[in-house]
Amino acid sequence: MAIVDFAFSRTSHDRSAHLRKDDAWRSAPGDLRVLVLGGEHVATTDGGGVRWVDEAEAPEGEWAFLGVRDGVRYAAVMVDRVPGELQPQSLRMIGPVIDTDDASLAVHAVGVARWHQTHRFCARCGQPTEVHAAGHERRCPACGTHHFPRTDPAVIMLITDAQDRALLGRQPSWPEGRFSTLAGFVEPGETLGDAVRREVLEEVGVRVGDVTYAGSQPWPFPSSLMLGFFGQAEPGSDIVVDHDEIAEARWFTREEVTDMTASTDLLLPPNVSISRALIQTWHGGTIHGRWA
Ligand SMILES: [Zn+2]
Repeated sequence: MAIVDFAFSRTSHDRSAHLRKDDAWRSAPGDLRVLVLGGEHVATTDGGGVRWVDEAEAPEGEWAFLGVRDGVRYAAVMVDRVPGELQPQSLRMIGPVIDTDDASLAVHAVGVARWHQTHRFCARCGQPTEVHAAGHERRCPACGTHHFPRTDPAVIMLITDAQDRALLGRQPSWPEGRFSTLAGFVEPGETLGDAVRREVLEEVGVRVGDVTYAGSQPWPFPSSLMLGFFGQAEPGSDIVVDHDEIAEARWFTREEVTDMTASTDLLLPPNVSISRALIQTWHGGTIHGRWA
């Protein structure tokens, strides 16, 4: 089952890691375009697309080299707060509507920026660390430890039963009618398939057999990689929600998803998400609306 499109699903720039060492990227050929960002907030043009500025226009900040696309070098300047005149917007919000190639660069930049924000000190000895490898490494001058950007794997899964109904859940903080696929973080020493089976069993009491990889989505808000799966429920396992991470869960037929989204009795995740892509791929037809 080929998964439908979702935000950040393609890398379209060459990361050119060989240019990171000794700041080789700074003197490499080609124009340089710079993205100004603060955490997940990136400079935009009238809020509609990523704004690239020249090196001379870039504010003071820490630099990260992103890579090369069509002979042009791309870099990011990370600041505490993007100036208002650069019309900062959250990448989480504009991800689905901006140019796919720019989204590829922006999601890379935001992932690096979020890591720098929270890793200024050495996790081993507590001393301040320094930026290396064009923003892709921090080193501790006190104890010599090298620190690299972290990515936290999370599984997100659409589980179906023998009647091909989809299992969707509602978190306790969500309003009535808002449902999504189940998800959770991978634990140390665990395979991805086992993480899918454990999370579904913990949250809703359903035993899952085979799982199939569907696709992945970088989600650097702050540092996740969402790994999407389809899974098959084992016969005879009833839903028993944990009331901690999930308040309500049920099986939906395709007809129910069509009708209930049309009447807004059911609100599903927005198109930006791999969750919506999993649901859409399973459904195969028209799904209405989304949550705000
Ligand atoms: Zn240290």
